[in-house]
Amino acid sequence: MNKKPVLPKTISSGSDEIVLRAIKCFNTAIGVIRKEYTRQHNAPWVVAYSGGKDSTLLLQMTWEVLASLPSSARHRKVYVVGNDTLVESPLVIRHMRSSLKKISEAATASNLPIETKITTPNVDQTFWVNVIGRGYIPPTRNFRWCTDRMKIIPTNRLLERLTRSHRRAVLLVGTRKSESTNRRRSMEKHGTSGTTMNRHSTIPACRMFAPIAEFQDEDVWITLIQRKPPWGGTHRNLITLYRNAGGGECPLVLTKEDAPSCGTTSPRFGCWTCTVVSKDRSLRGLIDSGHDDTGFFEALYDFREWLVELRENDSTRQRVRRNGISKVRADGTLVLGPFTLDVRKQILNRLKELEQYVGECLITEPELEFIYDIWRRDEVTQLCRDELHNAVSPKS
Ligand code: SF4
Repeated sequence: MNKKPVLPKTISSGSDEIVLRAIKCFNTAIGVIRKEYTRQHNAPWVVAYSGGKDSTLLLQMTWEVLASLPSSARHRKVYVVGNDTLVESPLVIRHMRSSLKKISEAATASNLPIETKITTPNVDQTFWVNVIGRGYIPPTRNFRWCTDRMKIIPTNRLLERLTRSHRRAVLLVGTRKSESTNRRRSMEKHGTSGTTMNRHSTIPACRMFAPIAEFQDEDVWITLIQRKPPWGGTHRNLITLYRNAGGGECPLVLTKEDAPSCGTTSPRFGCWTCTVVSKDRSLRGLIDSGHDDTGFFEALYDFREWLVELRENDSTRQRVRRNGISKVRADGTLVLGPFTLDVRKQILNRLKELEQYVGECLITEPELEFIYDIWRRDEVTQLCRDELHNAVSPKS
């Protein structure tokens, strides 16, 4: 079970002992990052950046190490990579995109070998193409088709490209043992510590490195509060985000082992459409905090609730699966297929109304084109099936 996140307000009264521990953690991690970076090989580094507190700290430490080295020693390129599922919680994605822009500009101005990138799912695998196009039911705990398609595959594609061109790459992640019991168990199972390099589970030429593995929540917040982001501004936005949304974040999910923490019931930032959680507590948190955009968040929240209702209503589903075959369980009950075409059209209409209401783009043109194409093919397939059925059915 995920533990309640510790927010900055609880550490303002932190004892000297806690502050000293945070400083010690920071110094140790900086030392390890410097040692790893200055090794004599050119494998690029990839910093997984979600805009959350852990990845922000990780990037800040990496940046400080690079800035402390003479330019001749900055021989390794560092890619800062964020992933946008295209249905991210709006405030989080705005924060991530604006931070990445600042990071990129400041890195260029400081002559640091840092490049930012944003990965997104392939257009044929976005949330809306699967739900509105193919009629997949919004994900559930047992049918979580989204994490792989929207988070893991897009980032892995970039890692594979880098390992192909550089023979190997090192992925830096801001995962910590104290995030949750599951996380601790998984990290201990893989022998992950703040000083070890581990194999990536699916990309053999990629090594993973988690320099803040041993940090507690307080260590992260104290360090962030005490140090300004080297790319400019302050961490105030980040802190406000956590306060308003109730803390936590949907971590950057990079491997299947990480997946259970994506879409959990803990308060977190994730996709605003996430139906794996029974209640979207981060949107709820933003609404309850009386944020300026409350009307916007409420509209998204209601839409998400409606998606859950549709999913739970059997009459919205086809009696056959997408391949036209019906399947019956051992107990004789029918395995329902995807949403009917009518329901998919209804979802798109309501999504377009929502877009107009909130005045933001919620689905892209390429997604719409892909969806219309799937519908056309589904209609033709259905027509062929009906004709075949009529041809072989005995005439009365
Ligand atoms: S936040 Fe929810 S919808 Fe988004 S990838 Fe994770 S489980 Fe899927």
